[in-house]
Amino acid sequence: MKKPKLAVWKFSSCDGCQLSLLDCEDELLAVAGAVEIAYFLEASSATVKGPYDLVLVEGSITTPHDAERIHEIRRSAKVLVSIGACATTGGIQALRNFAHVGDFVSAVYAHPDYISTLRTSTAIADHVPVDFELQGCPINKAQLLEVVGALLAGRRPNVPRHSVCVDCKSAGVPCVMVSRGIACLGPVTQAGCGALCPLYARGCFGCFGPKEQANTAVLAAHWREIGVDEPSLVRAFRTFTANAPDFRREATLHE
Ligand code: SF4
Ligand code: SF4
Repeated sequence: MKKPKLAVWKFSSCDGCQLSLLDCEDELLAVAGAVEIAYFLEASSATVKGPYDLVLVEGSITTPHDAERIHEIRRSAKVLVSIGACATTGGIQALRNFAHVGDFVSAVYAHPDYISTLRTSTAIADHVPVDFELQGCPINKAQLLEVVGALLAGRRPNVPRHSVCVDCKSAGVPCVMVSRGIACLGPVTQAGCGALCPLYARGCFGCFGPKEQANTAVLAAHWREIGVDEPSLVRAFRTFTANAPDFRREATLHE
């Protein structure tokens, strides 16, 4: 029987989410046995032409060329999954959306005229239909394996949509916000990291982006009660997933 063809594409990103797939040391051989890795430049320069059964897309759309290329990729993909904060929300580079990108270009590059860039950094789903979005910066490799396995089996991936607080409480970690007055984004952030920061007595930084129906207004009100000022609040919501609608709206209210 022919194996399903898997392709992995990169847009504006740091490659960290693709590396999560290579980091599946124990499971990688099983994945390679179940699919034909047809296009994955991070792993091999050998490529096979599409169409592909499953396409993973890392990175955000930041150039006119990206905005065209993603449509070609969508046409080649039976199932398309965007992976990571860059691909699902525009990523850290979406901070440009709240400033003038021309100012950055002229400050960073010796020859700004060589640079062809869009004013914004946006998610893959803002450009083409996406079958599943896997959040995280970087993504959780166990969640990635679940998504790949589920979609190849034709079922919906079982990825939790609850908050970091649920994992934090399950792990028996004392709440840093209640016990130490440390600002924490856990109540509005999707689980996936195992509550890593609270585990080390730090507030959640929101790497996994907003959970479903994130109540950012209540969290922001509580942060003010524990002494967080407005610029700090804006910075917190504008870190990893600044352009995710829930976080973008809350940050804009406090500018
Ligand atoms: S989501 Fe984070 S880890 Fe993944 S590619 Fe973007 S910056 Fe890198
Ligand atoms: S430390 Fe943060 S993530 Fe953990 S329960 Fe408290 S608010 Fe939630």
